[in-house]
Amino acid sequence: MRLFKLDINNKIKENLNIINFLNPDYIYIPYEKDIDLTKVSKNEPINSFKSSISGTIVGLKMGVFNNEYNNAYIIANNFKELETKKNKRIKISIENIKKILLENKETELLNKFNKESIDNIVISAINDEINVYNYMYLLKENANLYLDLIDEIRMFYKCTNNYLVIKNNESFIIDECLNVIGTYPSIVLTLVEDLYLIGKEQFLLDKLNITGNTLFLTIEDIDKLCKYLKIIDNTTKFITISDNVTCKIIRCKKYTLLSDIIEFAYPTLKNYHIIINGLMTGLEIDNPTYFILTDDIKSIHLLKKLPRFNKECLNCGKCINVCPVGVNPINGINLSNCLDCGLCTFFCPASINLREKIKGDSNE
Ligand code: SF4
Ligand code: SF4
Repeated sequence: MRLFKLDINNKIKENLNIINFLNPDYIYIPYEKDIDLTKVSKNEPINSFKSSISGTIVGLKMGVFNNEYNNAYIIANNFKELETKKNKRIKISIENIKKILLENKETELLNKFNKESIDNIVISAINDEINVYNYMYLLKENANLYLDLIDEIRMFYKCTNNYLVIKNNESFIIDECLNVIGTYPSIVLTLVEDLYLIGKEQFLLDKLNITGNTLFLTIEDIDKLCKYLKIIDNTTKFITISDNVTCKIIRCKKYTLLSDIIEFAYPTLKNYHIIINGLMTGLEIDNPTYFILTDDIKSIHLLKKLPRFNKECLNCGKCINVCPVGVNPINGINLSNCLDCGLCTFFCPASINLREKIKGDSNE
């Protein structure tokens, strides 16, 4: 297994400050049967709508939420922001964690807690994608709250091998963690080299030489748990947004329209392609006026030109050599192993979009 240092200019991550976009003119709440329309039209509090924004319904719109089309109420913000209700924290226990994950249909995360015994707990604060820094900023803001929760979880499992893993070149977040980690002697801060895909569970455990029953969680998982347990406010979220030269970390209200976030962050930018959720593994979207900011959207990249042009194959074999799991994207050998990591596309000198080709081949 080989992991790669991607040759990209990521200087833009230095000195990033968080920018707030917490007062959009509109938010878009997915239609739910139990919403009381009469209350909302009287400008009554709409916390029950999953947002602290106060306002009135001014229409309906079709929107994309968590990858699915759904009807949405358009709420015009009256800028009388509601104080986020301090909900009572849910008592932390593995039973309660499983219960809330089941209620919120978080099957993948729930499965991680369905192990009889745990030998190691590994918390990854690694964002593999180029120019996506959400994990670092989540950790910077909430290090104590996250570490408290991790510490409680490790006590329930009586687990002695607990690691918080960060890339060794992310100095500002390392400093932040060093300031607080001393309070948690059972959690070891572990640094790893900045290699693409090191954040993936199988690669990271391999690199750290960790075997046995492992509870592997990302910082995003911990953040989610903190929100479900009502330790952290669940009405805002970070998103990384970049163009060809700059990058910004924006704290947004959930359910804001992506086009409004783009307009806020890059008001003068014109004629760009939009990729969401990473340059290596993301998705190009045509119309950001349909996409609503929900938990699945982590980043927006605005590119003047797409990096792929589908030229002729040069038969150089680079795509085969770089694949970490032995797929041959040209003839489809081992296609079922594909991680959709995008390395073959990144390294192809003819700029062929092999990720798309592989998806097409898999569907045949
Ligand atoms: S996208 Fe699939 S085929 Fe291409 S390098 Fe990654 S795992 Fe290999
Ligand atoms: S890396 Fe690109 S040019 Fe080289 S063999 Fe693969 S598809 Fe062809």
